[in-house]
Parts: sequence; structure tokens; C-alpha cells
Amino acid sequence: MLDDAVTRLPGVGPAAAKQLATLGVRSVRDLLEHFPRRYADAGEVVDLSAVEVGSPATLVGEVVDAQVRRLAPKGRTRRDLAELVVRQSGGAVFRVSFFNQRWMADRLAPGTVAAFSGKVGEFRGQLQLASPKVEVLGHVRAGRSAEEAAEDLRHQRLLPLYPATGALPSDRIRTFVAAALDAVGPLDDWLDPALRTQEGLVDLDTAVRSIHAPEHWDDVRRARDRLVFDELLVLQLGLQWRRRRLEDGMVGLDNAPATGGWGARLVDALPFAPTGAQRRAFDGIAADLALDRPMHRLLQGDVGSGKTLVAVWTMLAAVDRGRQAALMAPTELLAEQHLRTLTTLLAPLGVNAPGGVRIELLTSSTSAARRRRVLDDLASGDVHLVVGTHALIEEGVRFAALGVVVIDEQHRFGVSQRVALKDKTATADDDGPDVLPDVLVMTATPIPRSLALTVYGDLDVTVLDELPPGRTPVRTTLLDPSSPERRERLYDHIRRQAGLGLRAYVVCPLVEPGESGATSAVGHHRHLAEEVFPDLDVELVHGRLRADAKEAAMERFRTGAAQVLVATTVIEVGVDVPEATTMVIEDAERFGLSQLHQLRGRVGRGADVSDCALMASQPLDELTDDGRARLRALVETTDGFALAATDLELRGSGQLFGRRQSGLPDLRLARIDRDLDVIGRTRDLARTIVAADPDHADPTHARMHGEVVRRFADDLEGLEALETG
Ligand code: ADP
Ligand code: MG
Repeated sequence: MLDDAVTRLPGVGPAAAKQLATLGVRSVRDLLEHFPRRYADAGEVVDLSAVEVGSPATLVGEVVDAQVRRLAPKGRTRRDLAELVVRQSGGAVFRVSFFNQRWMADRLAPGTVAAFSGKVGEFRGQLQLASPKVEVLGHVRAGRSAEEAAEDLRHQRLLPLYPATGALPSDRIRTFVAAALDAVGPLDDWLDPALRTQEGLVDLDTAVRSIHAPEHWDDVRRARDRLVFDELLVLQLGLQWRRRRLEDGMVGLDNAPATGGWGARLVDALPFAPTGAQRRAFDGIAADLALDRPMHRLLQGDVGSGKTLVAVWTMLAAVDRGRQAALMAPTELLAEQHLRTLTTLLAPLGVNAPGGVRIELLTSSTSAARRRRVLDDLASGDVHLVVGTHALIEEGVRFAALGVVVIDEQHRFGVSQRVALKDKTATADDDGPDVLPDVLVMTATPIPRSLALTVYGDLDVTVLDELPPGRTPVRTTLLDPSSPERRERLYDHIRRQAGLGLRAYVVCPLVEPGESGATSAVGHHRHLAEEVFPDLDVELVHGRLRADAKEAAMERFRTGAAQVLVATTVIEVGVDVPEATTMVIEDAERFGLSQLHQLRGRVGRGADVSDCALMASQPLDELTDDGRARLRALVETTDGFALAATDLELRGSGQLFGRRQSGLPDLRLARIDRDLDVIGRTRDLARTIVAADPDHADPTHARMHGEVVRRFADDLEGLEALETG
């Protein structure tokens, strides 16, 4: 029954089924998992005498009269007014009117119970809501007296309001759900009663029935507790089992850094001392590297926290053991920059010189001849370190002995990519177990702990929570078009800085002029080069330029031949030019908060004081609340973790959690910003269960595993990893 199509239910025809499908509801089970968005309390009586005229309110009641009145036409336009009289369950009456929406009088015929939300006005001494938002909650049976109707309302206390469509309003969905609840009989619980008791949770049947038809707010709360727990436990179990499944039968390598080895010599040769956070990261990673289980660790750190050093240090551990290491960057630009950084860091130890480390670059721009040579040298083991893009693991690249892989930026690296790594190394013989290299994933996007535990529940996490000393926080200012003279001052500032050998980025949301009217890099570059800074060299980089043109522009900016770089977000991550001290972001409200933070992180990397100017495209009071809140947050703090938490709050978990994007089941009720304690609890529980019973042999665990597989079913990658060995 649960897996049957909704049309199995009485009253659900093909038309309704089609509407339900647009809401993602196809089976009876989908319908039961289509949870209310919120509840209207039909028995709640708002004291009308206390409602303030001019302020917004939601009033609930039964329509007792509905009329349409003709108004005097305006010119040749016909005008009419639908007028309702609505009675609260306490007996008090208010009016509702709709201008030129005569059908409202039919839709809201007497007997209809609805919630009306709008601004409260007054008409002939009575409260009136003009063209309010309406949610139909139900109907009072025909022929009931006023007292009986009020009684009906009191009995329908909490009415669930569902995500609905125009053609399929919430109250119809409610009848369908009620039919489904009647049809299914008691729901099987996938949680063991002992665990339920231990966690103080109600059983599944009770939870599902009360979330749809609660009598009291307490029912809603208990139902929610249980269902949130389910969502998060499934997620954590899925992540743990998936990791377990992946690593099953695979062995890791002992890549423990050698005493006095390459890493130690690198640290000795540094012109600075590692921060405490970097040292702690070394220790944690060293312990992982030595285990026979493959490392899978996330290295998180705010921009400028020094992740690159940790990455190189980790890679060198492989070299200590006679193996190789690869660093994968999301773009060619970043791969090239990583190569430069690594070369500089390793210079004191000798790079591409006898007795030193041999390091190569491999991207899709590498010439065919060079590519062949690099591939040969990787296969023979002559190259120790290789830096590149995803091409490194996707194509027929073979390593003599790949020991460590570092991935810069986590989001494009999923389970299947990690699986692909096992074929990369020739270390294992054909009969032996598969060997997985140690993997370190770096992200410059600070992720709130709650989110990290949710999305990366299967990774171990190291956080670089300390910036190298001597950094001056970037000064951030917010400007809008109403202050043209401040823009002038900013340009003067850039010109003065240029005179001192310092540089400025100007970031635009678009490459070329488009319909949206947003500032384009190409257009703005021309404007700045020709009109504002004819005396300076203004370069341009964006994603549509050829790699060599991009590289040439970057190179001029890096060396100081160019003083201003107009760019799109291609420079968002990792670009490192210490002399760049000014960041201008055009149409700043169009960018996401973490993106803005990353962009700002491109300056403030040297000893000089840096500035970031956020240019809003409209006066601040005309921005959306959200846009304004983002820009304000950025002005207030430079702490990436604080910003990430704000971002999560502003966006909600939904967007961060698009199933297609993350490869994880949707969270419907759980909120990662609010349910932090449940996230922690379910993660610990999942770890314990999976460690004790990796093959879910225990029937209790087998049931859990079944539920996990079902809920991960839309995520093929996840499912494959769970089901196959
Ligand atoms: P991110 O974490 O943003 O990738 P980087 O690794 O690019 O940061 O480091 C930013 C800058 O800080 C680089 O110029 C790097 O050489 C420098 N740096 C890294 N660690 C330290 C340290 N412990 N002390 C001083 N400077 C450091
Ligand atoms: Mg970096």
C-alpha cells in the first residue's frame, strides 16, 4: 500500500495525482511524508478589539456571508468588489473584501473556514481586511447553528497547512492525507523499541499520525522530535555505512612522515613558524597517515589560515615513503598557482634539481609532448608531486605508487571519485586487496560545525582555527549609487596605492553585458581602462578567456606590471597576490555571503592595510532584506565561521542541501541550524552502530539499513556504494 500510487486512495483522481506529482508526491508514502509547513489554530480567537488598525494580522473564522457588489465603472473598465462577513469561533465578526476578484465570493462561500492574512483596515466601524492572503482550512457542515459552528471550529483545533499548488490547495491535500492515514493501517517502525525508549521518542505510527492531525501543540512537538531524529539518523547511518562499504576490502598505506624527513626539513626551512593550528593539523594528519585504514580527512580553514603548507607537508609524507602525491585544484588558474606556491615553499629543499623533489603540472592546457613526458615520469615514479585539475584522476593517468591525494575544494569530489583513485596506483598486485591512497580534502569555505557533521559526517575534520600572526583585518565599507563622490574617493585611493606598488581587484558579477543590467567585467574593464585609470594598466580575467590569455593577465597583475585587475569570480578561491590591498565588488548584493567572504579574502594577505568596498547596485534601503543583511554581516565581521553561521540562518538548510547537489537525501523537517544536538547524537549513535556491526547482521540493524537504502534511493551514487561491495 505504501508504495502504491496515490490514485489508489479514494478521492484522488488523475488530475489530483498530476498536481501532487508537481509537489514530488507520487506514492501513498510520499503523501504521508509530505509534512505540513505549519499549522493554523482554528480555535484561536484573536481579540478583535485589540487588533490595531494599520498593522498586519492573521484572522481565522467561518464565512457567514459572501456578496459581490458592482462599483461605478472607471472609464470603460468594469469594477466590482467581493465582500465577506467572517465570524470567529468566539462569535465576533470581521469583514473581508476583494477588489476585482469576484470569484472569491464563490470560492469562499458561507460555511468555509479560512485564515485571512493582511493589513487591518476599518470600514463602517468594523475591522476589514482588504485583499488578504487566504488559506482555506475547511468547511463547517451546512445547516449548523452559530454555536454549533463555533463548536466545530474548536474541535478542528490545529489545522495543518501543506505546501500546495494553485490548483491543489492545502485543504484538499489534507483530505488526501487523511484518506492515506485511513488506508495504511499502523505503520511499521524501523527503530527498535529499546532505542526509542532510550531516546524518549514516540513510535513512528504515532509520529506520522500526529504530525498530520495533531490535537495539541505537544503532539506536533513529539512528532517532530521523532521525525527529525529519523531524518538525521538515516543520514548519519547512510554516510557511515557508505564509507564502510567503500573501504571494505581496501587497505590504506603507511604514509607516516619519517623522523627528520621531508616534512620536518620543510618546516625547518620556513621563513616563519607554523601556527598552533597548523601544528595540531600536522599531528592529526600524521596519526591518520600511519593507520592501515585510508585517511579521509577534511581540512577546513578560513581564507589565509595557511592550508597550503599543511597540504604540502602531507604530500611530502608520501615522498618519505618512496611514493607520490597529487594535488587537485578546481581550475587551471588555481592549479598553476598551487604549482608556484609549492615550488616556492619547497625551494630551500631543492625543486626539480638533483637530490630535490620533482614536481610537475598536468592540466588540459599541457602540450601533448609535455603531457606524454609527465605521464611517463609519473608511471615510472620519477615525478614525486603532481599538481593539476580533475584531469589527473579522470583520464588514463597511472602512478608508480600514489600515496597521498590532496583535493582543494570539496564540493566536486564525491564518493565515486574516491573509488576511482583505487585504480590509480600500481602498488597493489592484481590478487592483493585494493589500495586506497590517503585523501585530504581542503576547503576554504568555513562550514558551521553542524553542517560539517551533516554533509561530511563520513569525513574526519581538522579545523585551522587560527590565522598566522601579524594580519591586519580587512576594512570593509558598504557603498551605494547614492554616494558617487565616495566612488571617486575610492578611485583616488586605488591610484595612490598603485603609486606605492600596491594593487586592486575589481570584481563584477557578469562576463559580458546582459539583460539583467548587472555590471559586466568586459564593459567595466573598458570603462576603468579608458575613462577612470587611463594612466594605469588595467587587466581583465574571466572564465571565457583562453587559458594563456588568463595566465598572461594574472602574471602582469602578479608582477605589478598591471595595477588593477577586473575579474569575475574566477578569482574567488585561492588567488594569492600579497601586494593586492584593495578589493572592489560591484553589485555586491548579487553575490552569496560566503562568496563575498572568499572574494574579500583575496586582499589582506600581506603586511599592508587592506580595504574591501562593497558596491551595492541600488540604494541600501531598496535592497531586499536578505541582500542588505548579507552586506551588513560582511561589514561587521571578518570571521568566516561567524559568517557561515549567518549564511545558514539566512538561507535555511534547504538550499544548502539540494539533493542533486549533495548526493544526500533531503531533510524535510530537520534544520541544521537548530537541531545541532540531534545531529551530534545521531552521528555518535551511527558511528557506534556501524563500528559494532558493519554488515548489519543484527536484525535490528538490518531494518535500519533497509530504511537507509530506501531513503538514499534517489541518490544513485550513494545507493551503489551502499549496496554493492
Ligand atoms: P589559505 O588557507 O587561504 O590557502 P595559504 O595557505 O594560501 O592560505 O596561506 C596564506 C598566506 O599565509 C601565504 O602567503 C602563506 O605563505 C602564509 N602563511 C602560511 N602559514 C603561515 C604562518 N604560520 N606564519 C606566517 N605566514 C604563513
Ligand atoms: Mg590556498
